[in-house]
Amino acid sequence: MNRYDDLSPRALWWLQNLDELDLAESCAYYETVFEQVRELHRPVDYRGQTICAECSGLDPDGDSTDNPPVPHDQCATLKALQPPKEP
Ligand SMILES: [Zn+2]
Repeated sequence: MNRYDDLSPRALWWLQNLDELDLAESCAYYETVFEQVRELHRPVDYRGQTICAECSGLDPDGDSTDNPPVPHDQCATLKALQPPKEP
């Protein structure tokens, strides 16, 4: 058993179809995208609780939300970005 045996099918595809420079550029791109999403769904203190700014529709002044406040640990977008759990 080696590390190649443990790769997911998609990881193996990337490895077989891209050279190391392409892989580095892809990692840098996706790292930037993830950071932008995390900034959009940033935690903010709102009336005594920590909420997701984006899911709650927090106004730029931070005084009100367009949606019911969403606790930051319940942000569905950030949950979707987490890697799958090991079986
Ligand atoms: Zn969110």
